[in-house]
Amino acid sequence: VKNMSKNSISFFTQEMKEEFLTRINVEKQLKTALLNKEFKLYYQPQFDMKTGKIRGFEALLRWINKDLGLVSPMIFIPIAEEIGIINDIGEWVLKEACRQYKEWNINNSFRGIISVNISPIQLKTNNFYNTVSDVLEETGIESGCLELEITENLFIDALEPAKILLNKLIELGVRISLDDFGTGYSSLSYLKSLPIDTLKIDKSFIKNTTYTGVEREITRSVIELVRKIGLETIAEGVENDKQLNFLYKSFCDNIQGFLTGKPMPPEQVVKIIEQGKVD
Ligand code: C2E
Ligand code: CA
Ligand code: CA
Ligand code: CA
Repeated sequence: VKNMSKNSISFFTQEMKEEFLTRINVEKQLKTALLNKEFKLYYQPQFDMKTGKIRGFEALLRWINKDLGLVSPMIFIPIAEEIGIINDIGEWVLKEACRQYKEWNINNSFRGIISVNISPIQLKTNNFYNTVSDVLEETGIESGCLELEITENLFIDALEPAKILLNKLIELGVRISLDDFGTGYSSLSYLKSLPIDTLKIDKSFIKNTTYTGVEREITRSVIELVRKIGLETIAEGVENDKQLNFLYKSFCDNIQGFLTGKPMPPEQVVKIIEQGKVD
């Protein structure tokens, strides 16, 4: 048996083998993560550029597993989508974010926005609308305080059904935000036809505004056009003063990034709210 492995042709490199085993292990652990209460939401502040006050917080999912440690959502969200458990996780996220918001709202009369990331798979599930309206009812938060962050992927193969659903959600009063703008395929004219309130300009744009002139011009025009069609703008991934100044001069409505606040646990959010950085 020992010899066999030596002589047999292996399709996998050692690296591939390790990757495969890690993946199997991540899947296994992920299936029980919700039950074992291994998820936690962090919150990153979004600042209104005009007032300098907090516009709202984006909820960002964190998974802390005893074997794997802290796993990035960039790794586990795609896996959760693939193995069919994103709906359960997503529903937990939505409920937890709204429950948390209500707590801030009562104790500190915080009236900003809570933004929640929604996977396209959740949006394509029949009862998503009911899930949202149930969560709003259960937690008792005003629908106008909840913002759903979606991505352009949603529109690729089923534009009309997606539009119908988003319109229903907007009728319910929730806000719709288009995440990672600039990384997908959509043109600005096409944007006008979509039921969205807010547009988040992807970090790759913001990053490039630090140095190169052409990128700055592109980003400036994007912000201008988005404002012209009546959408609110949020720049994400703002890391330095140079970017901040540029975005201020370009009339970007809001900023979000490490410069003004990293994603933080709820305990820390309470402190910020108490410091009076919000209305
Ligand atoms: P995203 O929605 O685009 O979230 C922004 C990501 O950028 C977050 O990474 C955030 O921590 C990071 N970020 C914030 N400010 C800066 C900055 O100044 N510089 C840089 N380089 N990065 C910054 P995170 O938390 O690791 O999340 C990664 C992605 O995972 C998210 O990207 C989102 O697509 C997904 N995700 C996170 N939470 C959820 C969730 O609850 N549901 C779903 N479906 N997806 C989620
Ligand atoms: Ca997001
Ligand atoms: Ca984003
Ligand atoms: Ca993203």
